[in-house]
Amino acid sequence: MTDAMKPGLMPLEQAIEELLERTRCIVDVETCALAEAVGRVLAEPVTAQVNVPPADNSAMDGYAVRAADLEQTDTLRVSQRIAAGKAPDALQPGTAARIFTGAEIPAGADAVVMQEQIEAEGDQVRFTREVQPGQNIRLAGQDIKRGSEVLPAGAALSPVALGVLASVGLAEVSVYRRLRVAILSTGSELVQPGQPLAPGQIYNSNLYLLKGLIAELGMECVDLGAVADTRSATEAALTRAADEADFIITTGGVSVGEEDHVKAAIESLGQLELWKVNIKPGKPFAAGRIGNTPLCALPGNPGSALITFALLALPCLRKSRGEQPRVPLALPVKAGFSRIRTQSRDEYLRVECDPQGIVTPYANQSSGMLSSLLYTNGLALIPAGETVEQGQPLSYYPFSSLLR
Ligand code: AMP
Ligand code: MG
Repeated sequence: MTDAMKPGLMPLEQAIEELLERTRCIVDVETCALAEAVGRVLAEPVTAQVNVPPADNSAMDGYAVRAADLEQTDTLRVSQRIAAGKAPDALQPGTAARIFTGAEIPAGADAVVMQEQIEAEGDQVRFTREVQPGQNIRLAGQDIKRGSEVLPAGAALSPVALGVLASVGLAEVSVYRRLRVAILSTGSELVQPGQPLAPGQIYNSNLYLLKGLIAELGMECVDLGAVADTRSATEAALTRAADEADFIITTGGVSVGEEDHVKAAIESLGQLELWKVNIKPGKPFAAGRIGNTPLCALPGNPGSALITFALLALPCLRKSRGEQPRVPLALPVKAGFSRIRTQSRDEYLRVECDPQGIVTPYANQSSGMLSSLLYTNGLALIPAGETVEQGQPLSYYPFSSLLR
């Protein structure tokens, strides 16, 4: 029996650590055009082959000068015009160059005077203020130095990352293949939206929730639809999922009721590992594998499915696709409420955090409710055994960072 299977509840951090210990990167490396690479994960570090910017350039529209020339005189002749994109000639001593934002500084110039600070007459310009060497010049390499590491292996590529990689001239990146995630919704009560509801049925919301999350993360989704609550249907769907996907996520059917077949099916086809995590909502959650395909089994209640996905499954998905594990961003906020009742588990409340950093919980915290997640912007942690006083410091996890 592994530690994780012993009775008793484990803190979230320990559960994540143990889950990640069993998780490996399971996808191959491929080359991807930079324009297609948003959401992909770098397989190799990227080192800059060029300086950004490549040369000293002007931060202003104005005049490039040698500051020392203006100690003798306040008027200089304009000897050349340098627009962005043009290679400048060296600055003739004792002259100024008309220059525009982003244009390269000519050799011999060491300052740019903005056009608002001169008086022009014909080809002469009079400088009305003191000029400091270096002013209004963006130095070569001030953004990124040639030879420096721009991004490490395992970095997920955001639009900002793509822009930065473009700035160092990269047209292609070495990335991991997209992780294919099978989603299997168990429940004989589930119906696809668009179909009429018969008595006893509900719409399958978890599938759409998870599909959206997987797509936003830049992973591929293999939709295995709804699976009836029988052992044979569950086993057939898991077998297919293990064949077609790199990672399996199931929802529902993972409790201990007569209608719950996920655990038994995993046990008969592969290995089951249970993480009894000390979080609310967070029950029931299981992990395991079918052959070499890792699996996370989430609760059926949509609110719990989302929270266990974010806190437990997502770190495993990230590591499986070669991404560097990361600690969720916890922001210090203040409670906009009080609570005298205590909880035996660490509770993640769905809350709205206002611009002053005051969090208010959604009135109904039922784990069956999904809409509460639409009207809140994150989770606030109430540690096990603690009451809450108005104004008390709490940790807040914005959904915007938890789910991306
Ligand atoms: P279970 O974990 O299978 O016992 O399901 C717990 C609750 O979540 C039940 O009320 C189910 O009807 C509901 N549920 C399970 N799967 C889904 C789903 N895919 N979409 C919406 N609700 C679900
Ligand atoms: Mg069920």
